[in-house]
Amino acid sequence: MIMINLIDKLSRENNLTRDELHFLIENRTKETAEYLFEKARQARIQNYGYDVYMRGLIEFTNYCKNDCYYCGIRKSNRNADRYRLTKEQILHCCAVGYELGFRTFVLQGGEDGYYRDDIIADIVSTIKTNYPDCAITLSIGERSYESYKLFFEAGAERYLLRHETANLEHYSKLHPSNLSLENRKQCLYNLKEIGYQVGCGFMVGSPFQTIDCIVEDLLFIKEFRPHMVGIGPFIPHKDTPFEGKPAGTLELTLFLLGIIRLLLPGSLIPATTALGTIHPRGRELGILAGANVVMPNLSPADVRKKYMLYDNKICTGDEAAECRMCLQRRIESIGYRLVVSRGDCKYI
Ligand code: SAH
Repeated sequence: MIMINLIDKLSRENNLTRDELHFLIENRTKETAEYLFEKARQARIQNYGYDVYMRGLIEFTNYCKNDCYYCGIRKSNRNADRYRLTKEQILHCCAVGYELGFRTFVLQGGEDGYYRDDIIADIVSTIKTNYPDCAITLSIGERSYESYKLFFEAGAERYLLRHETANLEHYSKLHPSNLSLENRKQCLYNLKEIGYQVGCGFMVGSPFQTIDCIVEDLLFIKEFRPHMVGIGPFIPHKDTPFEGKPAGTLELTLFLLGIIRLLLPGSLIPATTALGTIHPRGRELGILAGANVVMPNLSPADVRKKYMLYDNKICTGDEAAECRMCLQRRIESIGYRLVVSRGDCKYI
């Protein structure tokens, strides 16, 4: 009964206290999860109907100057086969994607100094000129306020930068000491001030994560009010210090997707590739728990296996068109529809 009351309160007020969130997560069961998902679906249907937005993910570089302990493309991974896409290759991905109905292109990569600010700005403005009806999302890590502003003026309207964990001590266990939560958060605030639609988020079940950490993540998300929230299970990569650590679970990830939908009912929440990697129907279940975005891969087939953030990543052998059609089938199988649209955030 207490659990049902908490979920009702969350769905009515779009908020809970720290202690209530902790209690809700700690005492979750299969039955309470079903009730939560029902409420989360109601909220998403009220805001976005049965539409699922798609984003074409272009993984344009796996060079990275950072050494995050969880990530397969970290600087110290000597086994990573490094690549960079040229401007022409990126534009080709967009052309293929546009034909397939994509109206958002997400340029994601490691923090690669090769792509100086002027190079990124030039790529962004060319895409924008060629596809004025499309949104461009950047996900290239931490840069200065001025850099972010330059990219925005070049035509990038959205930016994905997961905060990774809102707990200071936890942050220091996932990252080397040259990276700080303070700077990560400052980047998020800068992006918002400049006018981007901003996405933050975290990994579920990353090493050393406790329920307290997760509650802090949720409170930070509520306070920051991002337009987009990306969460997915942590999955170990064999060539990282976290090799052998257990992956995050489907069950907890889905439960948190439901909570986030109710905390920010108008937000855009992807059912991530990582979720599809730990369970064959992970992304469908994510949508049924409250997610409303999918991000299939548009990267050229020959580099896909090289952008390995974690082991066993799905779809690395497919062509963009196959991914698009496969996702459409999956989404229609649960009564939702993949739409051709920029899919902007409607409410914040
Ligand atoms: N360099 C960019 C993009 C990072 S990759 C940036 O700093 O934002 C995108 C996301 O993948 C990361 O934010 C992280 O949350 C996630 N990720 C990295 N390694 C992972 C792993 N082993 N398991 C699951 N997710 C991972």
